[in-house]
Amino acid sequence: MKIGRFMEMDKIFYGVVEGESVYSIEGDIFSKYHKTDTKRQLKNLKILTPIVITKAVCVGVNYKSHSEEMNHQLPSDPLLFIKPSSAVINPEEEIVRPAQSTRVDYEGELAVVIGKRAKDVDLKDVDDYILGYTCGNDVTARDLQQKDGQWTRAKSFDTFLPFGPFIETDLDPDDLSLRTYLNGKVVQESRTSNLIFKAKELVSFISHCMTLYPGDIIMTGTPSGIGPMGSGDVVEVEIEGIGILRNRVK
Ligand code: MG
Repeated sequence: MKIGRFMEMDKIFYGVVEGESVYSIEGDIFSKYHKTDTKRQLKNLKILTPIVITKAVCVGVNYKSHSEEMNHQLPSDPLLFIKPSSAVINPEEEIVRPAQSTRVDYEGELAVVIGKRAKDVDLKDVDDYILGYTCGNDVTARDLQQKDGQWTRAKSFDTFLPFGPFIETDLDPDDLSLRTYLNGKVVQESRTSNLIFKAKELVSFISHCMTLYPGDIIMTGTPSGIGPMGSGDVVEVEIEGIGILRNRVK
């Protein structure tokens, strides 16, 4: 099932997406909810990020191909960093290149959406804590990442965390095709089977460090092919079974 969050006039609501139609959800998507018969046309709605996050926990250097292009050593444990909720933008909104940076890159990534408060969760139990999966773009000021050494500034500018458009709740995350397009041309292409630490392993690993709240997301890392975006560019992240996250660059 595909769950999205939408705005119509001033009203925000969750809905189940079926083709070009959206059926309103009644109840709490983290506990009990049901799909109603109230149907709207997707094209008439503003698509919001499918969830409101308290934090995005991100994983660096989690594809061998990307570690090679960056001359990074393969980490022995998942390499974690955090993007703030203030970096979030909706699908179709503009990524703004900050004045402090001369190189702002896309990073297409599979994102895990947490469905239940998770602390010290064993790998065998993680499915109970996952609501589903979506697409994310870990936008990065590459020059500042290299200059600063640690990554907080480079990863945290406003607009640097587009994700969506929908959460797919019935999906095996371990072998999905992932593509990033810049102005329609494929620039990143891999499969999640190439992840060094798999999506579910990451949920367990991270939960042994910090409490994950419902709606938090985990950005699982990007494959090779990273590159800069310029003004007016359109960047799209497409993941099999989920859909396409599209944003324009300013
Ligand atoms: Mg990344």
